[in-house]
Amino acid sequence: MSVRSRMQFVHWSLSIDPDDGTPAYEAACTTCDATSGPSADKRTPELWCLRHAGRTGHTGFRATITTLFRAAPLEGPRPP
Ligand SMILES: [Zn+2]
Repeated sequence: MSVRSRMQFVHWSLSIDPDDGTPAYEAACTTCDATSGPSADKRTPELWCLRHAGRTGHTGFRATITTLFRAAPLEGPRPP
C-alpha cells in the first residue's frame, strides 16, 4: 500500500483585522505600576499621563498602541 500526497503552496497576506482591528491606546507610568487602561481614543491615555504627572510627579510613560492582524491565504496556487 502506498500513500501519495499532494502539497500546494499558497501565499498569505497580513492585514489589519477588519472585524476587530480598531487600535487600542494605553499608557503606563515607568515609575510606578499605574496604567491608563486601554482606550479607542488616544487622547484618553494622554490626559491620564498629564493628570498622573500632576498628582504624583512621575514624568515617564510608556505608550502602546495595540491592534489585531488577520492572516488570509491569497487565492490560487503559487505560480511556478
Ligand atoms: Zn506613576
